[in-house]
Amino acid sequence: MWGVIGFLFGAIVGSFLATAAIRWPAGEQAASGRSRCDHCRRTLSPFDLIPIVSFLVRRGRCASCGKAIDRKHLLIEIASAAIGGLSFSLAPGLAGVGGAVFGWGLLLLAVLDVEHFWLPDRATGTLTLLAIAFGAAGAAPFPNDRLIGMAAGFLSLWLIGRAYRLVRKREGLGGGDPKLFGAIGAWLGWAALPTVFLLAGLAGIGSALLARARGEAISATTSLPLGALLAVAAWPVWLFLFARG
Ligand SMILES: [Zn+2]
Repeated sequence: MWGVIGFLFGAIVGSFLATAAIRWPAGEQAASGRSRCDHCRRTLSPFDLIPIVSFLVRRGRCASCGKAIDRKHLLIEIASAAIGGLSFSLAPGLAGVGGAVFGWGLLLLAVLDVEHFWLPDRATGTLTLLAIAFGAAGAAPFPNDRLIGMAAGFLSLWLIGRAYRLVRKREGLGGGDPKLFGAIGAWLGWAALPTVFLLAGLAGIGSALLARARGEAISATTSLPLGALLAVAAWPVWLFLFARG
């Protein structure tokens, strides 16, 4: 039952996340939700606002102008619904709500980082504050582990970025990466950070190999969205550590 509620609620959250991921980089007001078509600006009907279902029924096209609706809407809604369903069913109660909030924040940040190499301070900052709030409300890990995790996550990547700049004379890390790793530390506690970093590295190697198999050129200066890799690595670690109830 909890899983169904989490799935449905996650789908609704996903439609807001998708809108934010598409409109925020363009500087548009995202908070209003997906109330208009991205092309013709027609105000959407209540049916069009039903996540996932409306996309499938309309075959991914706007009912009025017939233009393709960005597939990101569907993919983000499905990912968000899965995050909600898994969190709520595996960890009913406060822990599961926290895990879902963490996953939804990571999902938005991963999409923004993949598409725009952009991790907005407002998003990483909000995610960090929410971690502290859930810790204060009693969700594991304890507040001390979270605060140490926040500092350790931020400082470790910040120092790596500094060292890289000194040695290679160019920017190797985005300015948002240490803040995201700090937020991840605040959610998972300091002890989980090496695991997240290792998994992100493996995911990076995996995606580089995949890109090469597709014939894309990869060199030492090819940029990988580190933030997205960290985000994709961090949520399974939360599932493993805190959702085995
Ligand atoms: Zn339209």
